Amino acid sequence: MSSSIPIVPILIGKSWEEIKTETYTNVYNPAKGNIIAKTPMCDKQIIVKAIESSKKAFPNWSNEPATKRANVMYNYRRLLKENFEDIAKLISTENGKTITESRGDIQRGLEVVNYACGIAELQKGESLSQVAENIDALTMREPLGVCAGISPFNFPAMVPMWMFPIALACGNTFILKPSEKVPLTAVKLVELLLEAGLPEGVMSLVHGGKQVVDTFCTHPDIAAISFVGSSIIAKYVYSYACKNGKRVQAGGAAKNALVVMPDADPDSTLRAVLSASYGCAGQRCMAGSLLIGVGEIANSLKDKILQEIDDMKIGAPLDEKDINMGPVIDFNSKQRIIEIIDKVSNEVKLERDGRNLSNKKGFFVGPTLFSGVTPNASIFSHEVFGPVLSMMNSKNLDQAISWINELNYGNGSSIFTQSGSAAKKFRSNVNCGMIGVNVGVPAPMSMFPFAGWNDSFYGDLHMQGAEGVQFYTRQKVTLTRWDNTYENKSGW
Ligand code: NAD
Repeated sequence: MSSSIPIVPILIGKSWEEIKTETYTNVYNPAKGNIIAKTPMCDKQIIVKAIESSKKAFPNWSNEPATKRANVMYNYRRLLKENFEDIAKLISTENGKTITESRGDIQRGLEVVNYACGIAELQKGESLSQVAENIDALTMREPLGVCAGISPFNFPAMVPMWMFPIALACGNTFILKPSEKVPLTAVKLVELLLEAGLPEGVMSLVHGGKQVVDTFCTHPDIAAISFVGSSIIAKYVYSYACKNGKRVQAGGAAKNALVVMPDADPDSTLRAVLSASYGCAGQRCMAGSLLIGVGEIANSLKDKILQEIDDMKIGAPLDEKDINMGPVIDFNSKQRIIEIIDKVSNEVKLERDGRNLSNKKGFFVGPTLFSGVTPNASIFSHEVFGPVLSMMNSKNLDQAISWINELNYGNGSSIFTQSGSAAKKFRSNVNCGMIGVNVGVPAPMSMFPFAGWNDSFYGDLHMQGAEGVQFYTRQKVTLTRWDNTYENKSGW
């Protein structure tokens, strides 16, 4: 291995370490196609060491006053703001998204830290005096112990930050295993946590794949697992870890539809559709990848989208100005997307073809548009996770809703309309957890749950908001009996 390529460090206890492992995963700059770091794929022994260190740190950290834990979050918030641009550049470097998108990635994570600063309020229990004769009842929300987080490549800051700020603020210790494809942002996020005053061992960072995840799922000292990634792995982690008695929340893949009614505002709808479909090169679990035009609107919408696509500037986020779209994550992803376009172009009409951006060195796929897609087309229910939009044309709103409800996933769906009644019908009848009305990417703010349904989420309590606090705590109920007959016999 070339010594000039840095090895991504791990953190166990207080020391960052460049460990030697049998296998490494290449971290690329997707805009250039070159290797920028190597991620060590940790083995079970290393993970057990991280779990032991986390377990040791738990009693002291969980015993700290909530205000002291909140102070660490306030410090962290300040440091994230001071390092905001550096983190954004790091995200663009290892993930390939545009600098504006990277700023959004860190901003959404920062909002969760803002939320976690209020932990002293959020973690409060309830009480009732005289729940029975002379008995008072009190509930407390206590932390769980050692929690683990496993995150995907597409939001290197936001997704890990759905997890660890709330877990830590609640008094848990946490081990993060970021995607092996984008570990550098995670290193920076953890460095800043230590600078914010988080005690030794409370946060650990490890790297790897299945072996690490399996160790989390089976080790008796792991209390809870937060997972985000593809549905097949989400379901695996959910069932394996639950079988071993762990609390699990696991976000999966998605296929999100955007429904445009004939009365939709043309300009704002077009902007929202383009951003939902091609933003982050389509690598979003909330990407709008099915566009359903209701009635006559489909044709005019298609013409406008084609015009906009042709004007899009695709390029290297940190080297070229005013880029609208960056590359996809790696060569395999690019090949996978190209193969999907190859296949689907035999089934429906390919209006714009993003396969041939051969003048680019990195992993680029151009914005692609299919029209005339029906529920029988293979792309209808398949998550592409690339800049590919499929247009459908429905007779009416009922048909659009019934198509959406054929999908197995259930992250988001949006409607564009001026009619409150159409919006209400849509909201009430669509089987998914996050609804947009004139909003293309209805990803909730940090005080609300990221509420995927069906095969987009396995578990009971989602990430973010009050459900996040509930996930990372368990309730203890205390009943206290004191009779009401105290007499001051001793002169006290
Ligand atoms: P992925 O499933 O390949 O990887 C996610 C994590 O799982 C990574 O940390 C990876 O190392 C680990 N992993 C990979 N193979 C594993 C295995 N066999 N056993 C155990 N762990 C394994 O997902 P990805 O390609 O990094 O991310 C894209 C996917 O994530 C898309 O499907 C997208 O929709 C989904 N996603 C979902 C949400 C959500 O909230 N529902 C958010 C973001 C991304």
